[in-house]
Amino acid sequence: MPLSQRTPTYTGRFAPSPTGPLHAGSLVAALASWLDARAAGGRWLVRIEDVDTPRCVPGADRFILSQLAACGLAPDAPPVWQSQRTATYEQALAQLIDDGWAYPCRCTRKEIALALGARGETPARHGELVYPGTCRDGLHGRTARAWRLRTDIPVPVRVLDVEQNRPSVLAKRTKFATNSVATGFIRWTDRRLGEQQQNVAQAVGDFVLKRADGLFAYQLAVVVDDATQGVTDVVRGEDLADNTPRQVLLQHVLALPTPRYLHTPLVRGADGEKLSKQNGAQALDTTDPIAALNAAAAVLGLPPQLGTASDALAVWVLQWGARWGAGRGGPPGALYNRVP
Ligand SMILES: [Zn+2]
Repeated sequence: MPLSQRTPTYTGRFAPSPTGPLHAGSLVAALASWLDARAAGGRWLVRIEDVDTPRCVPGADRFILSQLAACGLAPDAPPVWQSQRTATYEQALAQLIDDGWAYPCRCTRKEIALALGARGETPARHGELVYPGTCRDGLHGRTARAWRLRTDIPVPVRVLDVEQNRPSVLAKRTKFATNSVATGFIRWTDRRLGEQQQNVAQAVGDFVLKRADGLFAYQLAVVVDDATQGVTDVVRGEDLADNTPRQVLLQHVLALPTPRYLHTPLVRGADGEKLSKQNGAQALDTTDPIAALNAAAAVLGLPPQLGTASDALAVWVLQWGARWGAGRGGPPGALYNRVP
């Protein structure tokens, strides 16, 4: 039966940022998400995450799509560009403002650092400032620069309708739900990393939804897009595992389904950090697709193949399915917000 005539129970996606061509590290995530979708008999989508337009490189999106195609990784539907979906993000933000989850913030980075310093707190090692909540009680006549999500309100508990793969919303104004759990505390099960948890309020604080430059934050765009595209399974690099609790929290407050997550091993540069353009990642050479695919497969623990890319992919799909199974790790959204 053609794919379009089935109701897919699995939808996966690869979501590259067009800040440059694919490199060896990004192919690992692309290959893993493609294999997972194929092993599950599901759909595989590509979404160009160009929401942070100043960082995007013109033409990189088309080049990435050509690199994927050269490796035999073709999406089952035309790609989606985040830069064309601003109206949808605007709606989601309006809903969050309506429901009391989002508030305007006037603080500059310097003011946030000063406020933290006054409390005797030093910024985290990677320079991410845990927002101290300065503007929760209003702007006091100053102009809004950004919009933030409150993490100091108890996270609502949702009842998951497994058959429908969507949460039954207990109450629209979920912050008043009586059976709520710890403030900003998110727990989820990663198919590879196992049980994960984070107190978003402590680790990140009230995070930005819409930036001072008017652009929507990555976290909001991803959550809205995954829901709009019916994504059931997110398979991506482990460097993004740390973003998952913020995204799960947003799914809760927007009453959207929580997908299953599988975070793949990273390819590291000579400095031990995730391979990136900054530490010398070369653009992926797809003139020899099987060589590029074999290198990515090795990171995923899959044995090298001879022959064509499509032969190799067919073998790996079986091996991937045997190892990870479709849906191993429970139904989407399971265990997402239990208090330990
Ligand atoms: Zn503020």
